[in-house]
Amino acid sequence: MSDGSPPLTGACVCSGVRFEITEPLESAGYCHCTRCQRRTGTAASANATAARGSVRVTAGEDLLRAYEPPDGMAKVFCSACGGHVFSQDPADPERKGVRLGALDGDPGVRPSYHQYVAYAAAWEPLPDDGLARFPERRPAGA
Ligand SMILES: [Zn+2]
Ligand SMILES: [Zn+2]
Repeated sequence: MSDGSPPLTGACVCSGVRFEITEPLESAGYCHCTRCQRRTGTAASANATAARGSVRVTAGEDLLRAYEPPDGMAKVFCSACGGHVFSQDPADPERKGVRLGALDGDPGVRPSYHQYVAYAAAWEPLPDDGLARFPERRPAGA
């Protein structure tokens, strides 16, 4: 804990998987990549970058499964309900991104960018929200 407030908590749809985040989230954004569209059934996925090592599974570790593409982050979800909870770096699993929709309360951060907009769904125009847009992955530090 860095600020004395209770940890953020989150869960999958069936609540079999629960997790907590013990440090403030670093940043957040919308991902419009094809994998996020397929994974969620929606036009974009709202994700936040968690501080390294700050995400801890508190229940349902045995329910977790991961889709591990040959490139990119593993997509971790609950095998009972299909709810996606976080992504993790296969080379360093302590590096995770959390799905904003899986969190119980206010995540503290707000989405500040759209990434992979070159692949955005034809059926939902990008919102005119003034946020930064990146055709591919958000460059480090952007
Ligand atoms: Zn579940
Ligand atoms: Zn994505």
